[in-house]
Amino acid sequence: MTRHVARILVSGQRRRLEDEWNRVHAERPMTAGAVALDVGSPEYEQLKTLYHRLARDAPIEWHETIDVEYEPDELAAHAIVTLWISATAGPGNNTLHPAYANARRCPQCGVETYRYQRAPLHLDPARIDEVDIAETDHGEVVVSPRARDVFERNGVESVTYEPIVWAAPPPSPRTMHQLVVVPRLGPLAASFPLVKEHRCPVCGEYRTVGIAAATFGPARQLRFPRSSYHGEGLAITRERFGSGRKRHLIVASGRLYCALRDAGIIGFWAEPAHLLEDDVPARE
Ligand SMILES: [Zn+2]
Repeated sequence: MTRHVARILVSGQRRRLEDEWNRVHAERPMTAGAVALDVGSPEYEQLKTLYHRLARDAPIEWHETIDVEYEPDELAAHAIVTLWISATAGPGNNTLHPAYANARRCPQCGVETYRYQRAPLHLDPARIDEVDIAETDHGEVVVSPRARDVFERNGVESVTYEPIVWAAPPPSPRTMHQLVVVPRLGPLAASFPLVKEHRCPVCGEYRTVGIAAATFGPARQLRFPRSSYHGEGLAITRERFGSGRKRHLIVASGRLYCALRDAGIIGFWAEPAHLLEDDVPARE
């Protein structure tokens, strides 16, 4: 049994909406415009209706991201799972301080290609969610000492923990590391519905790399030829996903996922991934 959880944020002049919602739904209060509700639940429909009614008179905006929550046992049964990082760590890359040399952005399509990181990331602590694992808007992953401890106790190899420099004083003492995962997994199996669109005539990269499958369900779960996996605790996909700005996805062993769950590590949701015996790698 899986749940689809909508993480909703209402911005703009939301005071009235928040008041009306909280008066009726004290058990599921909206705080600072944010509330998480099961997709398709009566509460979800009620909030949407309330929003549409009030949006006629006030400038308010609805944003939502949807996480899938699988039963922990269902995930634990898989050799590998995809870790979708849902927490945000604010602007990364060279935004607050130069961290990368050879930053190359194709003038034609805007795709950013591989760069060499020569200095620590500078991040704004106020923009990092209060979680153990979060991702910048450029796909850099940051982890708490708690998460690092779980990785180390579970023998995660071929990763490094790089220092982060705070671009402003943190509100309270806080340490995070940039997690750099070296092992690559893939390419994805040929049966995976990978979409590559708009190849750029200048740099040869695809502007968009995505998944041609409904947001939920097995069709979009990552799958790899079994021969491409060597038991790594953490690995990144060979493919980079996104449009313009691209990032690798992170895959964890089922065993490591269980350890993260048992330690209460938060900031991501997990989805089953698969190792196939008799599928061939996708053509490049
Ligand atoms: Zn290009």
